[in-house]
Amino acid sequence: MPQRIVRCSKCNEMYCSTTCYQQAMNNYHFTLCQSNENQEKDQLIRHITDLWRSVHPPPETTSISLVLKIMAMLKQTDNRLALLQELQKFSQGVQSENQQFYHKLLRKEFETQVEQLRHALEQFNEQYMQLAEFKWFLTSNGFRQLLALLGRNQQGVGTSSLALWVKNCEALSEPQQATAAAAAPATSEVSQFIDAIYTKIDDVSGEFIDCEGSGLFKLQSCLNHSCDANAEIQYLHNNSTLSVVTTRLISNNEEITINYLSECDRNRSRHSRQKLLQENYLFLCQCNRCTSESAEPDETSEEESENDMEED
Ligand SMILES: [Zn+2]
Ligand SMILES: [Zn+2]
Ligand SMILES: [Zn+2]
Repeated sequence: MPQRIVRCSKCNEMYCSTTCYQQAMNNYHFTLCQSNENQEKDQLIRHITDLWRSVHPPPETTSISLVLKIMAMLKQTDNRLALLQELQKFSQGVQSENQQFYHKLLRKEFETQVEQLRHALEQFNEQYMQLAEFKWFLTSNGFRQLLALLGRNQQGVGTSSLALWVKNCEALSEPQQATAAAAAPATSEVSQFIDAIYTKIDDVSGEFIDCEGSGLFKLQSCLNHSCDANAEIQYLHNNSTLSVVTTRLISNNEEITINYLSECDRNRSRHSRQKLLQENYLFLCQCNRCTSESAEPDETSEEESENDMEED
């Protein structure tokens, strides 16, 4: 049965069910609800998300929403210490252990915007949150740690009504393919139609179409990366429940790995992949695939070098 969408009566934010809305309300939404009751507070929240958009290419607001949600959760919880301890469990640090790699967001080019963002959040804390426990995260060092923690651990939540519809179409077409060859033209028409929709969407919104937000997942964040991973992240229930699904047979004692890179970055050259992983996750990938490709020259794949030129 389709779930009924519920709206917050004060700010109109949508939730997938009454339970979902109540959970959000109990955890953080009571604090973050932009109900117009306090216009200055709403304005400050909008200012903070706008600042984040200017730092983060492509523009998105999920990471900064996470910072605000963490603050609101600390405000609403009756056990701040426990929540802070949970946060400490995620891999931290702005640089790799051998001090060779620094997180991309902490480069010189973002310094001014990151500082503006930190200042705005500091103001938000002082005026509306008064979280003594969060003050350290809003110092220069603490804020860099927080950004690195999010960058290294947050996982996009990939559910959208379109993705669900596409999945249902695929499920519909499978038995047809198996039983009647005559159904094949119709199936390919549907998949052409779907491809066309995604191409059109891509022109407008870029690769974030299936991403409705992001979250910190305690268990998933423990999984290591491999460029030849044996498992992947899926959202099988059309909500934020994350599943780790194997993509091939995993033998006894073999480590379960996922690929941290986006779909299109996965096919890049070893050099390009390693560069992305160093900048975003602070490690030098030594996976089987990287090792087997180590004879390749240290060249960026063509796409990558184009992007580099745009960035510079
Ligand atoms: Zn929900
Ligand atoms: Zn609301
Ligand atoms: Zn690798």
